[in-house]
Amino acid sequence: MSALILDGKTLAKQREQMLKQRVDKLELKPVLATILVGDDPASATYVQMKVNACGRVGMGSRSVTLPETTSTEELLATISELNNDPQVCGILLQHPVPAQIDERACFDAISIRKDVDGVTTQGFGRMAMGEQAFGSATPAGIMTLLDHYGIELAGKHAVVVGRSPILGKPMAAMLLNANCTVTVCHSRTADLADQIGRADIVVGAVGKPELIRAAWIKDGAVVVDAGYHPGGLGDIEKDGLESRVSALTPVPGGVGPMTINALISQTLEAAELFA
Ligand code: NAP
Repeated sequence: MSALILDGKTLAKQREQMLKQRVDKLELKPVLATILVGDDPASATYVQMKVNACGRVGMGSRSVTLPETTSTEELLATISELNNDPQVCGILLQHPVPAQIDERACFDAISIRKDVDGVTTQGFGRMAMGEQAFGSATPAGIMTLLDHYGIELAGKHAVVVGRSPILGKPMAAMLLNANCTVTVCHSRTADLADQIGRADIVVGAVGKPELIRAAWIKDGAVVVDAGYHPGGLGDIEKDGLESRVSALTPVPGGVGPMTINALISQTLEAAELFA
């Protein structure tokens, strides 16, 4: 068996062409506001990649950069301004923010109509209930990727490793809504290898290089790796997997491009809803 490669990079490029055509039909150019707090170079790179993607599909962007010392109140004031700005269709607050800031309060201050990165509690709740809401961008991008490649979900046992509010938890809810049987693992899970060994679909969302070992994964599984670490490593060890699993995401070029694509798709949807 040679695994189907779930090529997020190529899919994101194809989808950008379709998004551009939709943007061209709008009278007003959609604008995504990005907020970067502090000077973490990785966060700055992620924000720039999102701004670049907006440019490629003809959307506008407004970059707000705030100092490392920003308080919760100052960030809330910025979010409030952007919520009230009719030109802004979507707001991205780059995670993580400096420790002195109440990140949850700031995420939840984003207007639900502009929550195109799917970070608000209300948006999460609506998504989990199967109501209209913008999903958290990384799991939403993963769902688009699985759908594009025709990966069957209903009745499958999915094991999500990680339970963060932006990735593991919404991923689990989306897979559950797609009729998977879902197990969520985390740092207190006692028998991680056994849990993963029972998975038809494994999602690595753990943030530790190759924590999930290739030998734990059963033959024929679908392997989705959200991690990205120096040296092109993911959260899942890939040794020998390509010849025995049914599908897998490359690192890089799998989940990352789909995250950005979900963000700009949802910004466009927000603009279309405004229009
Ligand atoms: P996070 O907030 O640090 O959450 C990590 C999760 O992994 C936590 O739920 C933690 O459990 C769990 N965990 C830690 N050690 C574990 C262990 N030994 N066994 C089992 N579970 C363990 O990270 P995140 O923001 O969700 O990101 C996860 C990964 O996805 C990272 O590699 C990140 O870089 C990547 N990511 C990629 C994209 C993209 O666009 N490609 C976007 C976002 C994130 P506890 O809850 O018990 O602490």
